[in-house]
Amino acid sequence: MASNIEKSRKDFQQAQKLLPGGVNSPVRAFKGVGGTPRFFDHAKGAYVTDVDGNRYIDYVGSWGPMILGHAHDAVIKGIKETADKGVSFGAPCELEIDLAELVIDMVPSIEVVRFVSSGSEATMSALRLARGFTHRDKIVKFEGGYHGHADGLLVKAGSGAATFGVPDSAGVPADYAKLTLTAPFNDIDAVKKLFAENKDEIACIIVEPIPGNTGVMDLYSTGFLQALRDICDEEGSLLIFDEVMCGFRVAPGGAQERFNIMPDLTCLGKIIGGGLPVGAYGGREDIMRQISPDGPVYQAGTLSGNPLAMRAGIETLSRLRDPAVYEILEAKSAHLFEGLLAGCKDAGVSACGNRFGSMFTIFFTQADSCNSYADVCNSDLPFFGKFFNAMLNEGIYLAPSQFEAAFVSMAHTDDDIYETIAAASRVLARLTT
Ligand SMILES: *Cc1c(COP(=O)(O)O)cnc(C)c1O
Repeated sequence: MASNIEKSRKDFQQAQKLLPGGVNSPVRAFKGVGGTPRFFDHAKGAYVTDVDGNRYIDYVGSWGPMILGHAHDAVIKGIKETADKGVSFGAPCELEIDLAELVIDMVPSIEVVRFVSSGSEATMSALRLARGFTHRDKIVKFEGGYHGHADGLLVKAGSGAATFGVPDSAGVPADYAKLTLTAPFNDIDAVKKLFAENKDEIACIIVEPIPGNTGVMDLYSTGFLQALRDICDEEGSLLIFDEVMCGFRVAPGGAQERFNIMPDLTCLGKIIGGGLPVGAYGGREDIMRQISPDGPVYQAGTLSGNPLAMRAGIETLSRLRDPAVYEILEAKSAHLFEGLLAGCKDAGVSACGNRFGSMFTIFFTQADSCNSYADVCNSDLPFFGKFFNAMLNEGIYLAPSQFEAAFVSMAHTDDDIYETIAAASRVLARLTT
């Protein structure tokens, strides 16, 4: 039981004086669920330990990267070895070649890759490239879809007919947001309408092939992803898969391998850096050669290809080439997901969920399925907040938002999973009486 959180409380008060909201990334502040964010001291395997010494079974995994578990021995050893040789050169190093070879080998549609330092940088740069390549300015994204914090991507549709976007954040110029067109997920007619109304103006569609930032949704069995591929082919637009979350998560080659649908460009992040700051974008060679210094599309980074980050990525990805990894993750994740859904049913709590490999979300909703942003928004968010905080007290660390995925790592044991299901059953029983 994680009861004493005095140090986290004090740290949070101090941090709020110094950092907006006390955090450096908003969801960490627990605003969606209430309560005090835990300050972590250390992590190993499937567990994170806070500054008060409470240990949690962790299903956030730094929001995805820790697929091998926290502080994996080989990853840490690699980082230390590399650090001893200097942490940054601002000049080429061989580790960049090694990681590029791994990425190109593993991700089916990537022929050439450029490393950056975050997922946001990857998506932002991929959009510029798509615009530079097609000589078109408009882009299509989906309502509720998150692709990092670049200006043109912080746009969602207003209610009513999805046409021109309105900015979703202060500070995004309306004139710029207008170039971002939005449609609902799984609504191919809305996408066709955008293309009809903006003939020869749309550079690309950007989509998470397995949306995780809305909570996990299914765009595949509905035929939506294939339809997007077809539209892009017909219209001369590029299809960008934002696989920052699902890349290396649902298969060695990500969602594109799992579904056998190939994008023109792929954005990567999270797992690719094994917990260090790495992002990447890559794809068809003729497109990628448009990037500076080969071509006219400028993009650069002082710390891009940083040796420490490259090494952490190499140690992580090389261990994901073993197909057994994904079989193990599948089995553990299915066990947990089915166990949690059964727990909801036993407690009389309406819920549904989506799972692809080791990423899943359970939505507290009356609906039978959740495959649009509107569905997700209809979930019982106050109930989620109570469930989240009660699980935290039981020593289970879930993402502090209904609109997020849970991640299972190679380090989670069967006992961890049994313990999690048992904790959920206790919590659900308490919350419904
Ligand atoms: C996390 C995420 C991003 C942003 O990556 P950062 O490294 O946080 O900038 C972009 N797209 C998707 C799908 C993500 O999950």
